[in-house]
Amino acid sequence: MKSYFEARGNVRGTCGHKHQTEAAAEKCCKRDMDGCKTQGGYSDRFVSEVEYTPLAKFIERRGELQVRAGEKGRGKLLSFSYWSGNLGRGEAIAAVLREAEEQGYEVIYADDE
Ligand SMILES: [Zn+2]
Repeated sequence: MKSYFEARGNVRGTCGHKHQTEAAAEKCCKRDMDGCKTQGGYSDRFVSEVEYTPLAKFIERRGELQVRAGEKGRGKLLSFSYWSGNLGRGEAIAAVLREAEEQGYEVIYADDE
């Protein structure tokens, strides 16, 4: 599970950003407030923390196992392993999946590649 911060209000809606820090989201709220004030209004946005489980993709090709961030598997490499006779395939898969899951990701599988 990971989280990001956003500026959100019932009237103003969300800012549409995924701020990494609470301070950045606060600045975003202030910017919106300043913008609204120049038009004689006010912003009802406040900082809100959003929790989510990011997806990662399991990729296997020629004895090489990878888990990469993102649904399409083109993101950051989260875990990697070769497998051969010494280290069984099942064991190697379990290890790379565990490593990715420990980083807060939910691993999905390739349909066909
Ligand atoms: Zn924002």
